[in-house]
Amino acid sequence: MPSLNEIRRTFLDYFAGNGHAEVPSSSLVPRNDPTLMFTAAGMVQFKNLFTGIETRDYTRAVTAQKCVRAGGKHNDLDNVGYTARHHTFFEMLGNFSFGDYFKDDAIALAWTLLTREFGIDPDRLLVTVYHTDDEAVEIWKRVAGLGDDRIIRIATDDNFWSAGPTGPCGPCTEIFYDHGPGIAGGPPGSPDEDGDRFIEIWNLVFMQYEQFADGTRKELAAKSIDTGMGLERIGALLQGKHDNYDTDLFRALIEASAAATGTEPDGPGNVHHRVIADHLRSCSFLIADGVLPSNEGRGYVLRRIMRRAMRHAHLLGAERPVMHRLVGELVRQMGDAYPELGYARPMIEETLESEETRFRQTLDRGLRLLDDEVARLPDGTDLPGETAFKLYDTYGFPLDLTQDALREKGRGVNTESFDSAMAAQKAKARAAWVGSGETADAAIWYDVAEAHGITEFLGYDTLEAEASV
Ligand code: ATP
Ligand code: MG
Ligand code: MG
Ligand code: MG
Repeated sequence: MPSLNEIRRTFLDYFAGNGHAEVPSSSLVPRNDPTLMFTAAGMVQFKNLFTGIETRDYTRAVTAQKCVRAGGKHNDLDNVGYTARHHTFFEMLGNFSFGDYFKDDAIALAWTLLTREFGIDPDRLLVTVYHTDDEAVEIWKRVAGLGDDRIIRIATDDNFWSAGPTGPCGPCTEIFYDHGPGIAGGPPGSPDEDGDRFIEIWNLVFMQYEQFADGTRKELAAKSIDTGMGLERIGALLQGKHDNYDTDLFRALIEASAAATGTEPDGPGNVHHRVIADHLRSCSFLIADGVLPSNEGRGYVLRRIMRRAMRHAHLLGAERPVMHRLVGELVRQMGDAYPELGYARPMIEETLESEETRFRQTLDRGLRLLDDEVARLPDGTDLPGETAFKLYDTYGFPLDLTQDALREKGRGVNTESFDSAMAAQKAKARAAWVGSGETADAAIWYDVAEAHGITEFLGYDTLEAEASV
């Protein structure tokens, strides 16, 4: 049974053997685009090659790219612990053509890798295509011998990629694996497609058009290919598992979490171990790439992930900080492929330990307050926003941590009243500041800071579409 490390290698070697330059993963903090929060897809580091702004000495590339989807447009944080296939940190395996090969070869290369190199049963595979992309349908029939029943036409954005309102764009085709009728969920495009029976493993994007501001499109002279396959998903499949968290790598992390907390890996605490294993990876890789916990921007996303993990450790009954004790196992598992983890290990451990030590001072009391409040709530009502705000302000509970805790109890937070409590506090702070004898300049500065947000990036909500494969 191949390990995730071996599968990553097989993928890279296969495409290298087909004339692709092996390019290292880029940082989780995109260097070429301040509008993106995190690198969320393999194409991010190649963005300017698709538009032709930049050229390199290769026209085909292959990567295993570190990705985080926990903030901005791509956010899978709430899926972790609930689906078999989502992580906040994952590795996206991808092959790219910059004006070199196009649809035919992209489909043939993918099909050959899956069914010959990896030996996946072709009868378990099905694909989606963009509803107007007859060319892709024809290639799937010819190259893979798929029948009409296993080529599903989809009319939504799921099968049409674009970087934004203008620029390169095009249809995509997604490859799904059917884990069998024992698992709930319907095929892509059906009402219960969000189940985990049919799992999307690979997305092939055909960058075919350029879109203009007036809404018209023209065929690109140099058409390109951008693909992404989750290593953990293909890994689960090749290891005969349905669930990413049952792969060799995740088992090792889950067992480390169990050992550190003196609990069973597969007992009732299993969901906590899964979340801890996932969050350990995203936090460690983010810190290795220079992100540190803070109260704004990327640092606040990191802090939120760390604190969520720490709540789960607390629920396992941990009596002292846990997260930093798991870093060694992560380095053992992934340090060869990502040497930066080993270099940054002391900083990762120190950062995790000090954050957890601090948060533990208020976590327990905050959770008790939350439990008391929930016990008093009438059935079916949400937690008042004022309480969530108190947890935020006094106990350091990010809103999403409170929501995560409440989800287990089938409740939510009244976010409207949370927002007004937050706004009221800001107004109070402002009044106090102006009234403290500062000159008018200070008040103006406060307005400017608030209007623009004191963050290190801008506009990811609108522009992060570019990070999608
Ligand atoms: P899904 O529909 O399952 O959420 P997606 O369509 O959002 O996946 P893409 O943006 O197409 O995913 O990313 C390309 C590939 O990366 C996916 O086919 C999948 O294998 C993998 N992938 C995407 N998101 C995650 C995640 N959160 N955790 C693990 N793997 C992921
Ligand atoms: Mg998704
Ligand atoms: Mg999808
Ligand atoms: Mg997809």
